[in-house]
Amino acid sequence: MTTYKIALLDGDGIGPEIMLEAVKILKLVAERNDVEFELTHAPFGASAWFECGSSFPDSTKAVCDAADAILKGPIGLSHEESKKIPVDQQPERGALLPLRRRYNTYANFRPVYLPRGLAHFSPLKPEIIGEGIDLMIIRELVGGLYFGLKETGVNAEGKRYVKEVLEYDEDQIRNILKVAFDTAMKRKKVLHNIHKSNVLKSSVLWNEVLEEVRVDYPEVEVIHILVDAAATYLCLKPTMFDVMVMENMFGDILSDQGGGILGSLGLMPSACLGDNKAYYEPSHGSAPDIAGKNIANPYSMIGSVAMMLEMSFGMTQEARNLWDAMQGVFAAGFSTPDLSKADSGVKMISTSEFGDRVAQALQAAPKP
Ligand code: NAD
Repeated sequence: MTTYKIALLDGDGIGPEIMLEAVKILKLVAERNDVEFELTHAPFGASAWFECGSSFPDSTKAVCDAADAILKGPIGLSHEESKKIPVDQQPERGALLPLRRRYNTYANFRPVYLPRGLAHFSPLKPEIIGEGIDLMIIRELVGGLYFGLKETGVNAEGKRYVKEVLEYDEDQIRNILKVAFDTAMKRKKVLHNIHKSNVLKSSVLWNEVLEEVRVDYPEVEVIHILVDAAATYLCLKPTMFDVMVMENMFGDILSDQGGGILGSLGLMPSACLGDNKAYYEPSHGSAPDIAGKNIANPYSMIGSVAMMLEMSFGMTQEARNLWDAMQGVFAAGFSTPDLSKADSGVKMISTSEFGDRVAQALQAAPKP
């Protein structure tokens, strides 16, 4: 039997609630398969700051270093609450970016998926959703503006100023583009390259490197779209996309729009891969507005487990079973409240009931 060590970073807000459902599923997967999961919870984010005086304590780093994979809940506080933590220790700057940097998890996969039968969850018209939305956003995760040099101060004219640097070298660009081309090869062999080369020099270099990389992928059709236009097409014609690749900040913003066109960020799991370590997390934040109410949608967290099973542990069939189990809960007419209005005919269920129903459906699936 294979044993995998998994670091569980519950995080803040709805993090612990949706992590409970992920753990429920992990335990069931272990029962059904010839694997053992050694699960270790470790503090991370704002809760870690209040508990231990650090958003990413050394003890958590040690648990992550020893893990075969990391499952991370969302972190962060409301805008007002954030002010209780020093700026550099606030969850993204103090924990999330250091986590990404520590393991160089440069390749972020954010699937945006809604089958035709669930078009009623989306704010888009059914005719726009057509046969369904199924695209993969590939976001560069450890470069660009979020990781560049930052400077604040007072200039010669006595005015406060800020300077943040957007930096990429050609290797960083090449690495993420290879991931995108490889992904396109496994899917429809069409890659939408999202950039802003009419304004940003970083996009000019990005596109130069793309021309070099594409030589190795002659079967992949490349379609260039400016990021602003891509935002429009995501609403007007999302089915035109299959694999989209983009730099860090563009991916942060467009992938949340991806959640928007599905109907909720609760439908957005993700995988963050480096060459030696991977972590998995919902794409969304800690949703302080609904925390502690047992109404958050755990799909994003359980979907992140499915991505972990496939991408870190090679358990492709069980991952498929898990996706099917979650879609089955929706298809049977249930959802958490983020996806449906009270009079929509959909039966509203809680976070824990969603997890229970997914577990029941998975239990019923043939063992791999
Ligand atoms: P958010 O993603 O937390 O919430 C935006 C909206 O989506 C809210 O209405 C929320 O209720 C809803 N939502 C999000 N996830 C949901 C789920 N699983 N089920 C149902 N509804 C869900 O964004 P925000 O409010 O702008 O940010 C809150 C905090 O999260 C901030 O501190 C922010 O910095 C942080 N954040 C963290 C991450 C991360 O951990 N990777 C990502 C984004 C934001």
